[in-house]
Amino acid sequence: MSKFSHIYIEERATNYPVAQQVLKRFSDSKRVIIRHYKDVFNRPHQDFRRQKASTKLILAVKPEPFLYPGPEVCESFGNQNFYYTSPILNCIYDCHYCYLQGLYPSANIVIFVNIEDFFGAVDRQLEGGTLYLCPSYDTDLLALEGIVPYASRWIEFAGTRQGLRMELRTKSANYGAIAHLKPVEQVILAWSLSPGEVAQRYERLAPTLKARLSAIKAALQDGWQVRLCFEPLLKVDNWQQIYGKFLDEVFSIVPAERVFDANIGVFRMNKEQFKRISRLRSDTDVFAFPTVCREGGVVTYEDEEEMREFFYRHLSRYLPQERIYG
Ligand code: SF4
Repeated sequence: MSKFSHIYIEERATNYPVAQQVLKRFSDSKRVIIRHYKDVFNRPHQDFRRQKASTKLILAVKPEPFLYPGPEVCESFGNQNFYYTSPILNCIYDCHYCYLQGLYPSANIVIFVNIEDFFGAVDRQLEGGTLYLCPSYDTDLLALEGIVPYASRWIEFAGTRQGLRMELRTKSANYGAIAHLKPVEQVILAWSLSPGEVAQRYERLAPTLKARLSAIKAALQDGWQVRLCFEPLLKVDNWQQIYGKFLDEVFSIVPAERVFDANIGVFRMNKEQFKRISRLRSDTDVFAFPTVCREGGVVTYEDEEEMREFFYRHLSRYLPQERIYG
């Protein structure tokens, strides 16, 4: 993350303040002016794995639409009007199971520099009622805060809007980058957590469990609403033992009574993405466990329900049932 050898810039993006900041930050990178980000990002025959080893940056201007209805497979936490938005495409981490590798043809990171247009779209949506928005689904905004401070920008924006509820999801331990901000009632900081050995094996480049737990503890101490996302639960050998011990570790550090809520999600993926990614990732056994394809074309484990119930039972020892989703 400390440097990108190349930055591709849409000609029309160059004068945006965000583009200028990023270019200043990476002044040694080779700059290539392009017509449209899709000319680079959507090129055929790209090698996602090779690009992951040497990721390039693309600065672009996003045209409408800015907001998309929340996907069925994602938890809405009881909120109406669930939408997501993607101010950045792709992520600096490299989780074996990441659905982005089946979604995008390229591993390069696209930053949309016209953040104000995203905010404008949110305002227009809010004219029609409340909005539950997730801007950190197709990326990890907090992990990228050192490149472009979009986590802070979204938090500051949300703090000034009535009727908006926002979830900022992350695997980052980079809480220090936003610790100067006052907690905002409209914002939930959501950490995805996996057992230490699962994170080490399948969540390449992401911070350790311990580092994430320290970040959560600090955020809670500062008064933020914190969500714990226990997904994807993976069917590793001895999963009962591993996931049981994991929860004990989490709540030995995180004060359960201060946690806003939590969700549980057993590994699941759209059938087409599953096929594409399992072909791409011959370096992992994460797709080797027995799966079934459920109604709606969602691939998951045969014993998904058993895993969910097991985890739910254990989590209920720490959190009241009304604060557990999924
Ligand atoms: S943190 Fe999320 S978005 Fe980033 S690589 Fe992992 S699964 Fe993908």
